[in-house]
Amino acid sequence: MLRWIGIGLLTFLGGVAGLCLVAWLALRAPAPLEVPPRGTLIPAATVIEPGGARLPGHTVVVEGARITEIRPATPEERAEAPAPRFVLPGLIDMHAHFPPLRFFGIGEHYALLFLRHGVTTVRDAGDVMGSATAPIQQAFRDESFPVPRVYSCGVFVDGPGSRWPNTEIVETKEEARAAVARIARAGHDCIKAYDLLSLDALAGVKEAAREHGLPVIGHVPYATRFEEAGFDDVQHLTGIPWGEGVRFPHTIPLWKDLPPERVDAVVRAAVEQDIAVTPTFVTRDRLGSWVEPDLLQWAPDAALLPRAFRDLVWIKPPWEEAVFRAFHESFEHEAALVRRLVDAGARVHVGTDALAVVVVPGTSMGREMRLFERAGIGVEEIWRLATRGNGASLPLPELGRLLPGAPADLLVFSSDPTRSLDALEDLELVVADGRPYPVPRIDEQLSRYEGHFRSAFFDRVLGTVVQLVVNQLFGGNTDPAD
Ligand SMILES: [Zn+2]
Repeated sequence: MLRWIGIGLLTFLGGVAGLCLVAWLALRAPAPLEVPPRGTLIPAATVIEPGGARLPGHTVVVEGARITEIRPATPEERAEAPAPRFVLPGLIDMHAHFPPLRFFGIGEHYALLFLRHGVTTVRDAGDVMGSATAPIQQAFRDESFPVPRVYSCGVFVDGPGSRWPNTEIVETKEEARAAVARIARAGHDCIKAYDLLSLDALAGVKEAAREHGLPVIGHVPYATRFEEAGFDDVQHLTGIPWGEGVRFPHTIPLWKDLPPERVDAVVRAAVEQDIAVTPTFVTRDRLGSWVEPDLLQWAPDAALLPRAFRDLVWIKPPWEEAVFRAFHESFEHEAALVRRLVDAGARVHVGTDALAVVVVPGTSMGREMRLFERAGIGVEEIWRLATRGNGASLPLPELGRLLPGAPADLLVFSSDPTRSLDALEDLELVVADGRPYPVPRIDEQLSRYEGHFRSAFFDRVLGTVVQLVVNQLFGGNTDPAD
């Protein structure tokens, strides 16, 4: 009897071990793309600093992590150079998030999508569960897999009732000061302030952030408005449409009734108080499109991410159709304001909120640039904002510039993207922190990830496991506000 139980147990354990082995083999991510050594030379190209110099027939030399030389091409370089090429600074996404679930290649693939679409720097505007950003920054240092350079806010700072697991909940000025001090000590680059801060707590956040030399970015809390909030960088145009006790998404329909004197006050405040604005049009554009049932019909780039990721990270909010429609209807009002801010010389940043609902890393930067164009802003000006304009608000000197001594983050196109954003499709080479990544090599790696994510085992087994984990952690939270 005992013998049969023993055999049964052994068979069972063997079966479990076998299943685990099969699962491990099936879920094992492809080896990451090798991080190339630093240094390259781009011969005889047109070197464009958006909004500045345009140098045809120049050669760009990269040594280490810097541009060391931009000089007229030699006759040999001219003779050997391929068809016309255009060199621009790398794009900087001023508002994105990395996924908290990083295993099975999801994190590596997500980071590579930024590089594939020319985004060489990301400002991570809040680490949703506290697990996402540090490993990406570590990979940047130890070269374990290709990533953009990442500046981070770390934990969110909010009042009681906040929605993200990784949040410092603060009620008093002193608590807020202590939270900011912890964030500064942890080495972060910004403070992500959020919707539910009281005025008292917000005062503490600003005071301590100033002492630590960190910008306060984020959502203008419901308790105040754009002009009075004293932020360094307002995300998603929050605090502009405003009503007593009105919360997102019901702030969005207020755009159409925004009085002209409020618009004037916002523009004046942005200029006089030097408040940057990161509109992230693409997030609201994508939300507004979700009246269409078939996600991949209206958001084909969503197919770049694994199905399990789409199903579980992007949950359609339970709003009425009129609420979704308001996201599209508010665009012309938002666009008119942003155009005025640009014309007035305010700091306007290009950022996406990648990870938020149907906002895909990398491709959404191109979508955001196209929405800026739809807002009536010139293409070269959009490039200026998305490179040196964004870079000027980050702590690395000359980020986003094409100058000797500037960080070697640059893009090579076969047609001129400052003439038409269609040329975003003609990206040939991405140089990130001095490391040259030919786009065809990135694409080969992306198709390896695609095969991996599409395998039935990955889809079903991982999909189920992730679903359980997410339900456990979020308890069916379906409000996608970022
Ligand atoms: Zn966000």
